[in-house]
Amino acid sequence: MKDSRVEVIQGDITKQQVNAVVNAANSSLLGGGGVDGAIHRAGGKAILEECIKIRDRQGGCNTGEAVITTGGNLPAKYVIHAVGPVWSNNSADKAATLLANAYRNSLKLAVKNGVKTIAFPNISTGIYHFPKPQAADIAIKTITDFLTENNTITKVLFVCFDDDNYGLYQQRLGGS
Ligand code: ADP
Repeated sequence: MKDSRVEVIQGDITKQQVNAVVNAANSSLLGGGGVDGAIHRAGGKAILEECIKIRDRQGGCNTGEAVITTGGNLPAKYVIHAVGPVWSNNSADKAATLLANAYRNSLKLAVKNGVKTIAFPNISTGIYHFPKPQAADIAIKTITDFLTENNTITKVLFVCFDDDNYGLYQQRLGGS
């Protein structure tokens, strides 16, 4: 069942007026292409500086985990950098678990930091090639399950960039 706090839009995550945006980061935390590049470009160097500090302290971020930094110049106060898995046909179950972990750990970190509204990109479905339909199922289930046990988050926004993902999320979460 759809949780009324969950919404879907098509657009650019860097423009969203939420407390935190989630980044599909890589484990080096040093930035990359796709949504990661867009967030660092729009948010400015304060984000990378904090990422470097975290990297120096704990050696990056493992797959399935997440770290939090300032949102820099973004409308969002925080960026939560979550590392999704690289898709592999040989370890599909493991990749599914790690993708769910990336969503769940982002939400846990959000709650810990008083975040009430949060936007997610479609983690792992770009350069990491996770099949989009399965990734959508995992993202929606993990977030819906988390929200069942949580009453501090008021809005979770799925920000789909490409038409495929937007179509898949619309199919699953209804709307117009
Ligand atoms: P990954 O390495 O986790 O696959 P990518 O950044 O390559 O990360 O892709 C993740 C998703 O982010 C893709 O579905 C891509 O279409 C989407 N994306 C790219 N730029 C943006 C953006 N500015 N806002 C929201 N989503 C974006």
